[in-house]
Amino acid sequence: MPALDVSPSARVSELIERYDDFLADEVAPLQVKLAEQGVGTAWAPALDEHGRMHRTVWEARREVQRRSAAAGLYAPHMASEVGGGGLSRVEMMHVEEFVYRKAGLGLGLAALAWTEGPSPILIHLNATGRARFLVPLMAAETSCAFANTEPAVGSDVLSMSTRAERDGEDWLISGHKGWITNAHYCDVAAVVAVTEPGAGSKSLTMFMVDANSPGFRRGVDYPTALDDGLTGELLLDRVRVTDDQRIGEVGQGLAMALSWINWRRMCRGGMCAGWGRLLADRAIRRAKARRSGGSPIAALQAVQHMLADIDADVYAARATSLLAQAELDELGPYAVPLHPDAVRLISLIALVNDEAFFRVADRALQVHGASGLARNSIEEKMFRLARNLKIPAGTVEIQRNAIARTLLR
Ligand SMILES: Cc1cc2nc3c(=O)[nH]c(=O)nc-3n(C[C@H](O)[C@H](O)[C@H](O)COP(=O)(O)OP(=O)(O)OC[C@H]3O[C@@H](n4cnc5c(N)ncnc54)[C@H](O)[C@@H]3O)c2cc1C
Repeated sequence: MPALDVSPSARVSELIERYDDFLADEVAPLQVKLAEQGVGTAWAPALDEHGRMHRTVWEARREVQRRSAAAGLYAPHMASEVGGGGLSRVEMMHVEEFVYRKAGLGLGLAALAWTEGPSPILIHLNATGRARFLVPLMAAETSCAFANTEPAVGSDVLSMSTRAERDGEDWLISGHKGWITNAHYCDVAAVVAVTEPGAGSKSLTMFMVDANSPGFRRGVDYPTALDDGLTGELLLDRVRVTDDQRIGEVGQGLAMALSWINWRRMCRGGMCAGWGRLLADRAIRRAKARRSGGSPIAALQAVQHMLADIDADVYAARATSLLAQAELDELGPYAVPLHPDAVRLISLIALVNDEAFFRVADRALQVHGASGLARNSIEEKMFRLARNLKIPAGTVEIQRNAIARTLLR
């Protein structure tokens, strides 16, 4: 195999400077303004009477997204042909690492399109579908939800009960989706539905659905350990969609849904590297400042070992991720069908990061003692985030299944 270059390209270094300026000039004043409004913070928002993220906090995030799009910073992961930055996965990892380390848990995270932004798979919409759904998402004029999971079906995705049936040229979708990020505020949702029952991996198709469509309803909030009031239900009752709203071919829904999920899995590399280094920096500072028995706790071998273990996990997960992203750039990270080695590499990124970051967050909290457990401190919230990571976008067990399947094929 040829040597893989994982260093930041010149255009990435230039882009990172622009993110640095954007976070300082555009985001920091918005964050100060948000703090003055008594509605919590980006990472600990006040919740409304339904348990949902306070609309003011959501709007502050949306404002960052719109400004980022206007500055050409929102969608570097998207192909240049649809107005994105056309960055490779290695390049994206450097960008994500920088933004996550610098923004921490603040509003600045909204500078990069996340689950609610444009997914690379939307390139599989036809020209009409792209104009209607992708263009506004690229400009951050709208926000999206990915609606795959149902209250009774998560990992076992082929057992879902949401159906899309032909009605003349159109489709009628009915079903009940649960655990959906951005269910409350999404303008559009990418919905996975059964179109050919019994057809196994060809039984599903994916559609973009306008949240204003008759029959589309938002359900209850699902309070989670994240406490962000962003997870909830979507209910669809004979929602009419045209064939232009189809993503990919009929029967390609599983491949499309996995491609969407894979995007989220690959992003774990930069996210955990950025947050991991942030937690490492904070733990080192704390160890030098906090005293026990007349000396900084940094002088204690017990604490030194925790710092060393944090460093080892961050370094190992980051190195694995960069190498895997470089190999994925060779294989095509969003190809349909996906190369079997790409399946393995994407799951490796998710598994290695989810488990390493959980240990990092646990040790970083431990170094801080009781203040690490203070509700909504950086360490406490990161610990809850880290625990969460082992479940969405495929549990760590599902990542192991995918890796083993490739090894044994
Ligand atoms: C905060 C949050 C946000 C989310 N956002 C979204 C979203 O935006 N869109 C969306 O569609 N979904 C979303 N989800 C749902 C998430 O993707 C699912 O929770 C996840 O896929 C696991 O499904 P499950 O919860 O039904 O667990 P289950 O599938 O019931 O799994 C339970 C346990 O059994 C194990 N298990 C199940 N099947 C297997 C198997 N075949 N092999 C080995 N082990 C197995 C699992 O690993 C797990 O440990 C979100 C979840 C959370 C918590």
